[in-house]
Amino acid sequence: MKTFKGGVHVSDGKYLTEYLAVEQMPIVPEYFVALSQHIGAPATPVVKAGDLVAEGQLIAERSGAISANVHSPVSGEVVGLVKRVDNDGVEREYIQIKADGNTDNVVSMNPLVDPTPAEIVNRVAEAGIVGLGGAGFPTAVKLSPADVIDTLLINAAECEPYLNCDNRLMVENAKEVVQGALLVAKALGVSNVVFGIEANKLEAYQTLSQFEGISVVLLKKKYPQGGEKQLVYATTKRKVPAGKLPSSVGVAVQNVGTVYAVYQAVVLGKPLYQRVLTVSGKGVEAPKNLLVRVGTPISAIMSLCQYNADNTVKVVDGGPMMGTTLANLNGVTTKRSSGYLALTSEEVCLAKSTPCISCGKCVEACPMNLMPADIDFNATHGDFEAAVKAGAKYCMECGACAYVCPAKRQIVQSVRLTKSKTKEAK
Ligand code: SF4
Ligand code: SF4
Repeated sequence: MKTFKGGVHVSDGKYLTEYLAVEQMPIVPEYFVALSQHIGAPATPVVKAGDLVAEGQLIAERSGAISANVHSPVSGEVVGLVKRVDNDGVEREYIQIKADGNTDNVVSMNPLVDPTPAEIVNRVAEAGIVGLGGAGFPTAVKLSPADVIDTLLINAAECEPYLNCDNRLMVENAKEVVQGALLVAKALGVSNVVFGIEANKLEAYQTLSQFEGISVVLLKKKYPQGGEKQLVYATTKRKVPAGKLPSSVGVAVQNVGTVYAVYQAVVLGKPLYQRVLTVSGKGVEAPKNLLVRVGTPISAIMSLCQYNADNTVKVVDGGPMMGTTLANLNGVTTKRSSGYLALTSEEVCLAKSTPCISCGKCVEACPMNLMPADIDFNATHGDFEAAVKAGAKYCMECGACAYVCPAKRQIVQSVRLTKSKTKEAK
């Protein structure tokens, strides 16, 4: 099996939801739909308080070259434009919608039959599709790269522990996922379509291997196998230079959920306003893979999954390696939400940091060939310039170094602090 240099072997916790079929989350009374669910400029609202909207109706238009349309996740009435403070402490704008529970009031776009590459790109933009792997970069922009591309690589590694959203999509909707990938390949003008799947998803691997027009590469189970640079190297042996994108070596990378969304937009005419996410961890009695509408309150999701606050130490937005701890459950889902984990004391490390013992384990684990201990040392001593020189700006914040560190150094926090201090200084 193919892989990359460095990385760590983590206990993946996927068994909690691995075989659970995706369930549709019931409609809740109110939705808060963020104008900024993507990298780039927030979308501009095209509805106002009192407007009646249908499920799938455009409610905010992309503004600028890097932005994405936003559609109503439900049929209902617009309450207004509201400001809310997100978990990262930043205040953002949302369109508040009161749902009327009418699931027949749905609008969609015309399905496209045998579309041209330009028609696919336009449809992806119209449907508000962004990278569902977490980055949230508008997909239409990625489909018009400046570099020459010869390979479309579908990131099917889903290497974050606990998460099974991509895995379930590949098992339950393999045909649609492959069709979506072939549409993306057509838009890019490439014929080489490669799926990179980690060895812990054998059902998905076997299912996808039956399709023509794609190749499926089985990858060693190792974290962060789904990092773009690591995945490109493992599947193609091409090295993406530091500070460059995979397109610089002729590879376009898309996530499984994203190509599924492309299928839905092109073939069914359905914009992106719901996605699959995993709710897991031993702090929920009923873990699930859920199809959730954007703007759904996290508290409603956790309550559906029988969240037990008493034995939960932390609730994480995303996977345990790269996700962020939620301060409370007041937030809502976006197109970028891949899961929520209620983790108990058995599942998290509560040990305090002690001084570095210079064991070098973090250096061995770093998939970016950086010096994590140096970054951490300099950042904690306030020398952010030296932390940048040690490689902080190339760090992908995967957490592999912190995971293996016997001194429990909080290296990712040091990297994030360095990046924000550098930005502030600029
Ligand atoms: S330094 Fe950054 S890239 Fe390297 S292991 Fe740590 S978090 Fe990952
Ligand atoms: S793994 Fe931890 S203790 Fe070892 S060198 Fe790195 S930071 Fe220091």
